[in-house]
Amino acid sequence: MTTNLDRWRGTCGTCGAPILWATTRAGKPMPVNPEPAPERGNVLLAVQDGQLVAGVLRRNQAAGAHDAGLVLHTSHFTDCPHADQHRRSR
Ligand SMILES: [Zn+2]
Repeated sequence: MTTNLDRWRGTCGTCGAPILWATTRAGKPMPVNPEPAPERGNVLLAVQDGQLVAGVLRRNQAAGAHDAGLVLHTSHFTDCPHADQHRRSR
């Protein structure tokens, strides 16, 4: 089964990069890079109840998911060139 993610595609509001709009388990919107990042990814995407849910994994969880052959992604917040506009406070 292939998952059609088109309905969650969008663009980053600050840098214009293509992203997927996922929702965290806390219910907050989170931009995710659409390209899988097998090496450094820590975001596991899953479609649940018609929503694209992003689970952020701890480092050891991400390693386990990687070993299990799951496709991991990265948060666009991590490498948006304008990330400072997402995170104004330090
Ligand atoms: Zn961006």
